[in-house]
Amino acid sequence: MNNTAPIKHYKKPAELPLTGEEINTTTILFGGLTLNHEHLLKGAIESLGYHADYLPVPDNSSLQTGKEYGNRGQCNPTYYTVGNLIRYLNGLKERGIKDIEKKFVFLTAAACGPCRFGMYEAEYRKSLQNAGFDNFRILTFEQSDKFGESSGGGLDTNKEFYAALIKSLVLGDMLNEIGYRIRPYEERKGETDGVIAQYREKLSMALRHGLPITVHLKELRSRLRDIRVDFLQVKPLVQIIGEFWAQTTEGDGNYKLARWLESEGAEVKLEPVSTWIDYLLWSSMLEEKERLRIRPVKSGKRLMGIFLLERLFKFYFNTYRRALGSWIQKLPSQGKLAGYASPYFDVHITGGEGHLEVGKHIMAFKDRKAHMVVSVKPFGCMPSTLSDGVQSKVTSDIPGSIFVSIETSGDAEINVKSRVQMKLYEARQRAKDEFNAVLSGYGTGHENLKSLLHGNRKLSNPLIDLPHRFTGTAANFAAYLSR
Ligand code: SF4
Repeated sequence: MNNTAPIKHYKKPAELPLTGEEINTTTILFGGLTLNHEHLLKGAIESLGYHADYLPVPDNSSLQTGKEYGNRGQCNPTYYTVGNLIRYLNGLKERGIKDIEKKFVFLTAAACGPCRFGMYEAEYRKSLQNAGFDNFRILTFEQSDKFGESSGGGLDTNKEFYAALIKSLVLGDMLNEIGYRIRPYEERKGETDGVIAQYREKLSMALRHGLPITVHLKELRSRLRDIRVDFLQVKPLVQIIGEFWAQTTEGDGNYKLARWLESEGAEVKLEPVSTWIDYLLWSSMLEEKERLRIRPVKSGKRLMGIFLLERLFKFYFNTYRRALGSWIQKLPSQGKLAGYASPYFDVHITGGEGHLEVGKHIMAFKDRKAHMVVSVKPFGCMPSTLSDGVQSKVTSDIPGSIFVSIETSGDAEINVKSRVQMKLYEARQRAKDEFNAVLSGYGTGHENLKSLLHGNRKLSNPLIDLPHRFTGTAANFAAYLSR
């Protein structure tokens, strides 16, 4: 039978922009990072003259909503994010808010791939249409392109936009580091979180009104000195690595992994977003340097743009780090991470975390940065599956590596946590052995060292600058006290 129906080819729907006139009446929504990052990001976006707000942390109901309205077989960060957005918009509707599609837009990072990340934007749009928000606007800024070039229109992704983004992300990382390093050892439970909440608010306000950030950071530093800690508590240091969203979220998307590990007696090393920014800049620079011989003018211009953005990023990172004290850790060298990873993973392969997962795993043990590494990724994540393919070889090549790779799917929480607990037992033992070796090396005992702490405010100050000789905080502190 001859089918004479006209052929209708799929065409990407026209993008509906946020226009300059709408800025005062439209709220830019965003989400997917930690609470510290998002609260600061809100202040930073507002400083550019926009209204902004962040979505709640996505939970398993968001995942279910995302699956209900989206295509099959997407990565679960898509489902969690769009499901969370749909639930938020439905909540606005229930509260009687009209013209939601005009009054709100969603801002997200985008890239052309090479993994399913390239599909996120289209997936968000499709799910929103299925949920009845046909004209809801998704605004994107490219991860890999147009750094610092003005895009025009209502949302201008110009230099100021990237500077605001960088400042808030770097500050969010630093607040997270403070929390995860001090909280496990604090003597008055909840004190660290209280100080962080207070300064998250102050810093967000300072970003919003363009006030000097370093003044608040110096004030925060002296406030932190009032917290009392006992660094002689022996805790395994556990580094969380993996797919960007899965390692960062604080909700059901990774079974609230970081806080759960802390409740199990570990000190957690959370990956800063800054390492990710540094990696994006490093890999863009590598790519352009290699293209320089084929298209010198275009690549030269892009190289200069990336170089300037890198300068800006390092400037904010180092300025804020100095204000808080060199106690905040330096960013790992991208060259060193690539050097560690390259015998196992081609550093030209991008997508997801590229070679970072492998490089971080090796660095954790060779540079004594963790007793154990947990690599977390959404079920079926393509780049993480590549990394996991070589992680077993890495584990067998590195003496003493305690590595566990987990996939998240929204269910199977008990299975995942019991696997992590088994490895955590080994890591706990490793931390104890390391601590005991320090004590016997100096011919001293736990009680001896403990007696030095009584009434000594300097030694119970969380910002004490401990030389890094061993992996665990207690072992480094014991060595410091013994000397
Ligand atoms: S990195 Fe993994 S989870 Fe993230 S978009 Fe790519 S395939 Fe999906």
